[in-house]
Amino acid sequence: MSAPHLTTTLPQTMFINGEKTRSAAGKTFPVFNPATSEELAQIPDASESDIDHAVRTSKAAFESDTWRNMPPAARERLLLKLADLVEQHTDELATLETLNQGKLIGFAKMLEVSGSVQWLRYMAGWATKVEGTTFDLSIPFPPGTRYNASTRRVPAGVVAAIVPWNFPLLMAVWKIAPALACGCTVVLKPAEETPLTAIRLAELAHEAGFPPGVFNVVTGRGETAGAALVKHPLVNKVTFTGSTEVGRIIGRQCADDLKRVSLELGGKSPVIVLDDCDPRKAIEGAAGAIFFNHGQVCTAGSRLYVARSIYDEVVQGITAVADSIALGSGFDAATQMGPMVSARHRDKVLGMIAQGKQEGGEILSRDARVERDGYFVRPTVIANRACKPLSVVREEVFGPVLVAMPYDDLDDVLGEANASEYGLGASVWTNQLDKALRLVDGIEAGTVWVNTHNMVDPAMPFGGFKASGIGREHGKAIIDSYTESKSVCIAY
Ligand code: NAP
Ligand code: MG
Repeated sequence: MSAPHLTTTLPQTMFINGEKTRSAAGKTFPVFNPATSEELAQIPDASESDIDHAVRTSKAAFESDTWRNMPPAARERLLLKLADLVEQHTDELATLETLNQGKLIGFAKMLEVSGSVQWLRYMAGWATKVEGTTFDLSIPFPPGTRYNASTRRVPAGVVAAIVPWNFPLLMAVWKIAPALACGCTVVLKPAEETPLTAIRLAELAHEAGFPPGVFNVVTGRGETAGAALVKHPLVNKVTFTGSTEVGRIIGRQCADDLKRVSLELGGKSPVIVLDDCDPRKAIEGAAGAIFFNHGQVCTAGSRLYVARSIYDEVVQGITAVADSIALGSGFDAATQMGPMVSARHRDKVLGMIAQGKQEGGEILSRDARVERDGYFVRPTVIANRACKPLSVVREEVFGPVLVAMPYDDLDDVLGEANASEYGLGASVWTNQLDKALRLVDGIEAGTVWVNTHNMVDPAMPFGGFKASGIGREHGKAIIDSYTESKSVCIAY
């Protein structure tokens, strides 16, 4: 089936052991264009036996001479080649992403594809820099014995990577690039809503020369395919990005199996505007923090705290921005915000807005409901002047919904910012260095931005405090996440 804006056929198979693969039972599920509600393709609905096949393939690849004995520099070259291929396929990959996920084509190119290229190149460099240490031992037993002791870092094994639908290609690359750099093999399950770019990524990895079975993509539903992958006994490490609810399920399973696990989960990130901040800068910054990628960002700045002296001006300004945003297809140059990823998600977001209103929030922006095809939600600003514990203040919406509270005192706002089960990101908007640093010190979050929000980089660790997850991605620390430490002790 070919699709509008695409000259090639849509990817419609899994990719296992270097081959396009259908589900053995022939079962499929549909994926949609969220801007039109049209069905795009039927994708394999993997069963437990399909997952078993993919994991066994991945295990065999892990143990094969070609991968195990491949010099690190050769792994680096493969990742660099994959980065080049992704870059050369920018238009195709971005088109697939916009078609299937709904995001703006410009962002798909600039952030999703170009970001993937950057991450692949950065992680390629780590392949040759995995290292251990040597040290002297203090216990001479039996007497007179000497020891030569060291550690080496060895690949963790077969990695199960499970990713969500908000940045389908980039999230896949955040998992596979470090895993492959470290010498692991991977079975990746994209979200059921957005599997197309992940499948294409695996095809490109094959073209780059990765041995068959080293990087596999399975498609299917979380409760079946995802769960079967997590509990497969040949999987050594699970890396997951998605909701806290599913993160808990996966964490429990991995605890039972004693598997290594990293969890990148939900957020309810505070944006704190101090009284010295230029209101225009605050409006632009806070609107960007919540409306970027239609609010479907784990670090979305969804709780806004503004110094009371400038609260009205800032909140009115953001409401004007929200009301002026042009909704439409991500392919249309005039569009400033695309649809929610699915009908189910649109209904969840609309339901949470309605609940916020019912609990006493004041909706300042236009009606969030949109009468047109596709899964659109109009950006929404909710004033919560009385700082009530609304559900929309506590729970992750994952949509373009901002709730705004005034504050009087820095200690109070710090308390409010931390009064959340989440701790993923936060931003502080001020030029007062002492106050900025006091907030940086006090905020319980994996990343605190000052005068910016949502900035990520392959060199900068990323992850959550509290219910926002366990572990950090990116940077040097990622090596520990995909390797085991092996101590070697030689008596002489
Ligand atoms: P989700 O259920 O957490 O899905 C994330 C990934 O996990 C998907 O690939 C999903 O597969 C898979 N999965 C689901 N249940 C699983 C299980 N029992 N075992 C193994 N894998 C499983 O997220 P969602 O349903 O797409 O979205 C629900 C809410 O999660 C959103 O409204 C949002 O609040 C939040 N969310 C957060 C993030 C984040 O980055 N923090 C990302 C996405 C969503 P399926 O796609 O087949 O379900
Ligand atoms: Mg789901």
